[in-house]
Amino acid sequence: MQCSKCNKLVCSSMEYEKAPEGCPTIEKKEVFLKARKKLEDPEILKTSQVAAHVEVTGYMEWPRVQELIVFATKMGYKKLGMAFCVGLKEEAKVLTQILEKNDFEVVTGICTIGSLQKKEMDIPDQDTFSTAEEVGCNPIGQAYFLNSEKTDLNIVVGLCIGHDINFIKHSEAPTTVLIVKDRVTTHNPVAVLYSRYYKNKYFNID
Ligand code: SF4
Repeated sequence: MQCSKCNKLVCSSMEYEKAPEGCPTIEKKEVFLKARKKLEDPEILKTSQVAAHVEVTGYMEWPRVQELIVFATKMGYKKLGMAFCVGLKEEAKVLTQILEKNDFEVVTGICTIGSLQKKEMDIPDQDTFSTAEEVGCNPIGQAYFLNSEKTDLNIVVGLCIGHDINFIKHSEAPTTVLIVKDRVTTHNPVAVLYSRYYKNKYFNID
């Protein structure tokens, strides 16, 4: 059973007698017991509590940037790290201004930080815009830089697919994604799922 295709949603209603065959809530109880145990960590518990507070308090009122500010404030975070893509430099600047106006200290690291050349990653010339001499993205460098600054929370702003993975994997601070890069949809990947034109064009699905 795929949750994404389920119409029963007994995990939400708790009417377990109506559970579909293969429902993980019924069949993988040990997994969710283990997940519940994680809430014994006060920081993780607090994250869940503050998330609930933000969801209910700002419901249908606050855009995500506002939610980010309220969330970070309620968590007691003072120093925010931002890992951004050079292609979203203007957006990163505006976000920095907004966060500073809300009394956060902001440390920002651009994707080209540290001047990592593509040849250092064994990337062939055909996967570059010029040659492998060019500087590529350095998400681990961004993470290590923000780690060295001891940020309380890191924010991903438009990192490419894959670079986001390496950043999140190496970030010591908890990490939230504010902007997912999508060069075609002005960084709104869900547009492809909403639009039958996009669905048809890219995936031949109506
Ligand atoms: S957990 Fe079970 S009830 Fe909930 S969506 Fe998945 S399959 Fe459906």
